[in-house]
Amino acid sequence: SRSKEPFSPECPPKVSFYSCGPTVYDFAHIGNFRAFLTYDVLKRWLTFLGFDVEHVCNLTDIDDKIIARIARDGVSLQELTDKYAAAFFEDLDALNVMPADAYPRATEYIGPIEDMVKSLLSSSAAYEENGSYYFDVSKSAKYGRLARLDIEGMQDGASEGGGMSSSEDFEKRSPRDFALWKAYKPQDGDVSWTTSLGKGRPGWHIECSAMIREFFGDSVDLHAGGIDLVFPHHENEIAQSEAVTGKQFCRHWVHNGFVNVNNEKMSKSKGNFLTLRGTFKTPLEVRAFRYFVVTSQYRMPLNFSPEALAASKSALQRLDRFRTAVFEAAVSLGPASSEDAPSPEIQALVESCLDNLQVAMNDDLNTPRASASLFTLMKKAQPQLPDLTAADIALVSSALDTFNRVLGVFYDLPLSYFGSDEEPAPVPPHILELVHLRAEAKDKKDWATADQLRDDITAAGYAVKDVKGGDPVISKLED
Ligand SMILES: [Zn+2]
Repeated sequence: SRSKEPFSPECPPKVSFYSCGPTVYDFAHIGNFRAFLTYDVLKRWLTFLGFDVEHVCNLTDIDDKIIARIARDGVSLQELTDKYAAAFFEDLDALNVMPADAYPRATEYIGPIEDMVKSLLSSSAAYEENGSYYFDVSKSAKYGRLARLDIEGMQDGASEGGGMSSSEDFEKRSPRDFALWKAYKPQDGDVSWTTSLGKGRPGWHIECSAMIREFFGDSVDLHAGGIDLVFPHHENEIAQSEAVTGKQFCRHWVHNGFVNVNNEKMSKSKGNFLTLRGTFKTPLEVRAFRYFVVTSQYRMPLNFSPEALAASKSALQRLDRFRTAVFEAAVSLGPASSEDAPSPEIQALVESCLDNLQVAMNDDLNTPRASASLFTLMKKAQPQLPDLTAADIALVSSALDTFNRVLGVFYDLPLSYFGSDEEPAPVPPHILELVHLRAEAKDKKDWATADQLRDDITAAGYAVKDVKGGDPVISKLED
């Protein structure tokens, strides 16, 4: 909804959570991933609070874009959608997104979709025209409430998939009506299902309503999606489902804002439709993207830029260094004995940071404030690290774990994510020092020393290659 409201699931501690997933016809872009990261933080926080979240995220594996891709690439629907579903799961894994309990695909729910359309027909909420079935929006008194639409003033209601006029627009009684089932057309190729509705395929909106009904019954506690889905997608889901059940479809809606790239809207024509694997080249960059998204207010538009990524990278590196220092202190001090208690100062610091986390997250997932609290912990504890006892360190370490349960920013990417070209290990400082000395020797035209240093570098297992007008390139020699 447009306002903050207390969260009240129907049967606590159980929470039914449905999120609109990707259309698996191509790699998802960073705007899509903002949505999946928003769902992830929401789910992590509810789980942290003790709710038992059952999360279902659909995969749209049939629509106009998919049919166009199949025709273009000469592959089957299964081949195309399996490929991009697999890529989607790899990307989620790389972003440390907790898996949903189920990822149902639209094509696996043709039966429930058919049942729902028949139920809408029997109550005259839907009508048939040339083998296609449409929802009659005039039968839905509450239509437009979620998106606060001015229904009377609405003139256009172009068909789903981008405003191109189609046979659909001539068949619909009103431009606001939307397709539940689309009659087979020759351009659909061999993509069709034969049901009691005739030969054809489901519309987009009905799949989410049908799946929610299959998994959760008449009503879902929490339904999430990008802000672009409010209208018409979620509005249509409400209309269909409530026309069938007569009950409130969804108790709480969560919508995340857009991602812009360099202050421009992402679009295929501008070539700024950034995918995860095309944009981020190292594990740190992928984690920095997660950090960037999850520490921003989810409802606001988010502007992605190289500067924003660099800032997130450096913030994350600072946190990484702090966390490593805490680990190292824990190792060198050994376990705290049972009599040791943390100092009152450290106790007070950790308590106030964790309280802040709780207050922030309970305030409509105020993650900027939550991450500020993590930074406070770091800034105040870091200078004291050399003086802390094992009990102090254990407390700080467990506080870091708590923050990480919620924000999920400290993790290792799956090794396979970047394929064979893994991130090269950093060059050790003593090698960098030798390279530096060699450059100085060369500047002084002290060739003997420069050659000697090159031999030393080679003996240490590294190669140094001079680059005209730039820093020398250092690479590890193969064993
Ligand atoms: Zn949906």
